[in-house]
Amino acid sequence: MKIDIRGIVQGVGFRPFVYNLARQYGLFGFVRNDASGVSIEVEGEKSRIEKFVTKIKTESPPLAVIFKIKSYDIEPVGYDDFIIRDSDEHEEKFVPISPEIAACSDCLAELFDPDDPRYRYPFINCTNCGPRFTIVKDIPYDRKYTTMAPFKMCKMCQGEYDDPRDRRFHAQPNACPKCGPSLTLLNDKLEKIDAPDVLSEVCGLLKDGKIIAIKGLGGYHLACDALNPDAVHRLRSRKYREYKPFAVMVWDIETAKRLCYVNKDEEKLLKTTIRPVVLLRKRLDCPVAEDVAPYQKYHGIMLPYTPLHHLIVAESELVLVMTSGNISSEPIVYQDEEAFDRLKNIADFYCIHNREIHIRTDDSVSRIWRGKETVLRRARGLAPFPFRLNFNFQERILACGAELKNSFCLARDNFVFMSHHIGDLENLETLTSFEEGIEHFKRIFNIEPTLIAYDLHPEYLATKYALSLQDIPKIGVQHHHAHIISCMIDNEIDGEVIGVSFDGTGYGTDGKIWGGEFLICDYGGFKRVGHLEYTPLPGGEKAIKEPWRMAASILYKIYNNNMLDLDINFVKELDRNKWATIKKMIDKGINSPMTSSTGRLFDAVSALVGIRKEIYYEGQAAIELEMAAGMEASGYPFDLQELEDKTLILIEPIFRGIVSDLERGVGVESISSKFHNTIANIILNMCFKIRKTSGLDRVALSGGVFQNSLLLESTYVLLDKNNFKVFTQHRVPPNDGGIALGQVVIANERIKRGLG
Ligand SMILES: [Zn+2]
Ligand SMILES: [Zn+2]
Repeated sequence: MKIDIRGIVQGVGFRPFVYNLARQYGLFGFVRNDASGVSIEVEGEKSRIEKFVTKIKTESPPLAVIFKIKSYDIEPVGYDDFIIRDSDEHEEKFVPISPEIAACSDCLAELFDPDDPRYRYPFINCTNCGPRFTIVKDIPYDRKYTTMAPFKMCKMCQGEYDDPRDRRFHAQPNACPKCGPSLTLLNDKLEKIDAPDVLSEVCGLLKDGKIIAIKGLGGYHLACDALNPDAVHRLRSRKYREYKPFAVMVWDIETAKRLCYVNKDEEKLLKTTIRPVVLLRKRLDCPVAEDVAPYQKYHGIMLPYTPLHHLIVAESELVLVMTSGNISSEPIVYQDEEAFDRLKNIADFYCIHNREIHIRTDDSVSRIWRGKETVLRRARGLAPFPFRLNFNFQERILACGAELKNSFCLARDNFVFMSHHIGDLENLETLTSFEEGIEHFKRIFNIEPTLIAYDLHPEYLATKYALSLQDIPKIGVQHHHAHIISCMIDNEIDGEVIGVSFDGTGYGTDGKIWGGEFLICDYGGFKRVGHLEYTPLPGGEKAIKEPWRMAASILYKIYNNNMLDLDINFVKELDRNKWATIKKMIDKGINSPMTSSTGRLFDAVSALVGIRKEIYYEGQAAIELEMAAGMEASGYPFDLQELEDKTLILIEPIFRGIVSDLERGVGVESISSKFHNTIANIILNMCFKIRKTSGLDRVALSGGVFQNSLLLESTYVLLDKNNFKVFTQHRVPPNDGGIALGQVVIANERIKRGLG
């Protein structure tokens, strides 16, 4: 009998599992990796073969994911043994590759056992854990196609590698202190520090408040003592990220609980083999330096995932800042030379090693909402795990994603391979990373695209890249439509839904900047049934960095020149010269695109109440407005204006309400929560309206604005109470990191319907 298995079955101990199972049942034949998974031929008693097949399904190794098993009878060959055969490399290659997996308990036990040959060895791993995606250069997943190729295994390692009964049988990155990668410590002049024990040295330096660039799985981290305000402050000022929160690594759950509130679901998520950064609410007595996450109610906490991390946190007993090694918005540094160049004014020391990182991957970021994980950044540990859909793609499709938080995806058959988080496509570094990432995915998943999906925004670098590809049909996809379809695929639903697509920026079919959109849509198309009224965004991109411009623009729209008479601090502090210029821009329509963006509305309120007039990272004004919110239950009034084919949401009453509150000296907490409630009320009222005319009661919420957990929660509660079925994102980020998934499905559906 021949058995073909598809799924994540390579590099996860699947063949030894099959081997031992076959021996157990006294069956003869072979198992091998082939280009689409694992194939088995067995001969023996029929009932035993049946039991064998059942066990494959029910008892496969922990990291294996079986998508499909196909078995059929073939002519017996007359095998007299069961063996593991070499990989077959001739067929068409198409095998999902496992993401990185945190060090397993068996390896950790060895790591801390003084009698073990791998005691304190920072690169210990086995078939059940260790690096995968970041070291793979090509498929099939074999050592010779990974960055472990230069390390020749010693006798002990080779013995384990060859023994089907060993935990390290065919563990491609298998290594030990004798034959594997090793650590080196350099100072800021790149001179090698001759320490008898690099690990102890690193721990000592961290305790002394030094900043160390540590080479990890998917790139460099910058580490320092998170409880040392001086060290954190130095790191922050050297890194030019004045406010963006740093992630924190702690030894264990107990330590996490001393810093933050951790519920059962959050604890479970922290401990998964994915080991994401989990957003957790800070305790009031949290000892972490304020500069780690200024103006935030949350810390991003993770547990150690590589053996090196385990050793450092265990031996230093420190709570560590572990932030991506980069300068502000550039992608994470992953090559040694690059690190020495770009981190030279940041790191005091470099803790490096000689195992090359082939693909850079940031840490994933998640949070728990209503007991379920919501991925906010999909990277290490998650990518490139594929999404399996319940329909087949007509073409092999590349979807290029959006501009900020870019990720792309490739689709074939019924699989979508979504890339890791690439970053903001605003500089050459990130663009290169994007292009190289696409080439790598095309190669390892053997997908040569026959159709390209791209965002309609003509200025996005991802769009320019898409349009530069010759001789391939292309389909432009509207940004907010893509958000909603991404949410639908995430929830495995199809048909028509009410889509509430709220974000900062997305190019509309009318050439304006959308972002407060109510759609009726399905995979193939959408109708825009309502949106926030248009307001000029004076300065375009510049206004996104300077939220005060949007606040002034809205006040001007409502009060005209009388706005300068308003008795509020925002107006009193308004730079009259700057305002004169901005006013001229608005009046003459110079570089003042019209926008219906919800993100900009949050910006405007944030500036108006005096929280943030300029920002240093994307979404900062809105995030700090959310963090400032109190417990107010009421909201502001708003108006809906019926047009022939859609409803406009008028914002004037909202801002008149806020101004009046400010004049009366109402506090920021109160205004912030009232504003949040207002947006939730708008969503509810619009959904009522749409349900009445369309009969639809399923609502998909997507777009970066729904990362705001206060808004998400109040919107969910209102809709749920009024018998709407609400869908939010979980496996794919609600922000632009999820756009590519929507694009790929929309492009496919449009081809299917002949819409082009
Ligand atoms: Zn292990
Ligand atoms: Zn060895």
